[in-house]
Amino acid sequence: MSGTERKPMYVAIPGLDNGTTLKAIFTTRFGGVSKPPYDTLNLSLQRNDDRRNVIENYRLLSNETGIPTDNMVLTWQVHGDKISIVDKSHKGMGLVREHELGCTDGLITAEKNIALVTIHADCVPVYLYDPVKGVIALVHSGWRGTLLNIAAKSVNLMKDRYKCEARDIIAGIGPHIRKCCFAVQNDVYDLFLDKFREYSDLFETSGSSYRIDLGGVITRSLIAEGLEMRNIHDIERCTVCEKELFFSHRGSRGNTGAGAAVLMMAG
Ligand SMILES: [Zn+2]
Repeated sequence: MSGTERKPMYVAIPGLDNGTTLKAIFTTRFGGVSKPPYDTLNLSLQRNDDRRNVIENYRLLSNETGIPTDNMVLTWQVHGDKISIVDKSHKGMGLVREHELGCTDGLITAEKNIALVTIHADCVPVYLYDPVKGVIALVHSGWRGTLLNIAAKSVNLMKDRYKCEARDIIAGIGPHIRKCCFAVQNDVYDLFLDKFREYSDLFETSGSSYRIDLGGVITRSLIAEGLEMRNIHDIERCTVCEKELFFSHRGSRGNTGAGAAVLMMAG
């Protein structure tokens, strides 16, 4: 690789991002200013990285994407299932001004030019878009959030609040720790088996541990809500397998930064 070749700051989510009216991206480790172990494009303000570096990373991401930091709204993630509806009054929250949403792992908006932002280092980013009603949602669904069905709950909120029809909703599943790398012990496996016994084909024994297909569980939960399989797009990239490219909690033994999922209707 030549020294001048620049590594991408983000990847686009297939099936959603069209480069113009809908931006749906997931950031990489590249192009930021944070020092190890947060090198370099750490976008989490919930870690011990220098806050000034994280803010500079957002500015650099803004330059690259054309999305002003003032238009971003961040979650404050606790692996829960609270989803917050946001509008222009929330612009910049959690980044350029105080976070007043409380703990929230999901965001929904029906307004253009509001960039929803969730933070990830293995946990699944789920992007939802209803092009008919003009509504987007973005959730952080780690194994706890997946057990709490946060993606399906977001679809429900889109239906309740905005009269979205499930058949119109397009979903994207971004890079995350996939079945190849998500080995768990009995305790977590039992929780999944209790909650999703009908999806047990997505769980697999692997020596003394078990492997769980989080993206698969989420996909099934979206189909159960009425989404059509052809409208669910999985980028099929594993953050642990590609830990040089993406931040990975497990791939870095817990000592690292985190990337961001960003979803915005532009107009
Ligand atoms: Zn993997």
